[in-house]
Amino acid sequence: MNKTAKENHKNIVKLSAQKFGFDFCGISKADFLEEEAPLLENWLNKNYNGKMAYMANHFDKRLDPRKLVEGAKSVITVILNYFPEERLPEGENDIKISKYAYGTDYHFIMKEKLKSMFAEIQAQIGDIEGRVFVDSAPVMDKAWAKKSGAGWMGKNTNIINRKIGSFFFIGEIICDLELEPDGPIKDYCGTCTACIDACPTDAITGPYEVDGSKCISYLTIELKEAIPAEFKGKMGNWAFGCDICQDVCPWNSFAKPHNITDFEINPALQKLGDWEEITEEIFNKVLKLSPIKRTKYEGIKRNFSFLKS
Ligand code: SF4
Ligand code: SF4
Repeated sequence: MNKTAKENHKNIVKLSAQKFGFDFCGISKADFLEEEAPLLENWLNKNYNGKMAYMANHFDKRLDPRKLVEGAKSVITVILNYFPEERLPEGENDIKISKYAYGTDYHFIMKEKLKSMFAEIQAQIGDIEGRVFVDSAPVMDKAWAKKSGAGWMGKNTNIINRKIGSFFFIGEIICDLELEPDGPIKDYCGTCTACIDACPTDAITGPYEVDGSKCISYLTIELKEAIPAEFKGKMGNWAFGCDICQDVCPWNSFAKPHNITDFEINPALQKLGDWEEITEEIFNKVLKLSPIKRTKYEGIKRNFSFLKS
């Protein structure tokens, strides 16, 4: 394919991302993730995945998108800002919920948008094969976001975009369309260590490394068993997820509110104080489309009673 055709195709991809409301779109070559392979291996060897055994599955597919999508040539990464204008109370005694879970589950929203974007690209360019991904298959979102220039990986291991900070979702289209890669950007963390200093469970074991098994997000969402007693008094009243290492990041002071109605606060979250009394039926009803359903009723009850104990 000649250079002009490649450039045209790239323009079509980027305009389509804009049209569907994504805050950034960047391209990477679909290739083996050479730099990440030893890091992932090391992280798994240290058992930093806790009980998330699935993280060790599909090791090869995780590192090579061509093993997920036959004939893949490009990974198109998009990001979608979810920083809210209105925040739930965040006082010392308030029960806290991570901002990403305020509204409708992002999987639904991102997937719909990505599917529409891919359909538009196919309609404009022609016969392209590919798949869209939102946190749903062994795709290393952060690695691709970093490669595509969406941002750099901060010391808290979140990707940070210079314009919008780190409160965004990541999705990909992996396809057989050949596109010119965008390339990564530099690291702007500098000498800052605010996230490492603020993490209440010492889950950030050093710059760019998080022990997932100590992270409040894992303890409140992924862990299916009892939360270990060593974390008593250290959870800062977070009942679902944790935003501390992002809230303290100076780059998030540039964050601007999203404009997606579906991400607005679910009214049921305004009454978290009453949740101790919540029945399973009401939980399932009011949180039908919420990411909080991931913990199931038992999970959220466990988190509430752990915070109270
Ligand atoms: S999300 Fe919370 S617990 Fe996890 S690394 Fe960040 S500050 Fe620590
Ligand atoms: S808080 Fe500081 S060190 Fe941590 S990710 Fe943000 S800029 Fe980097």
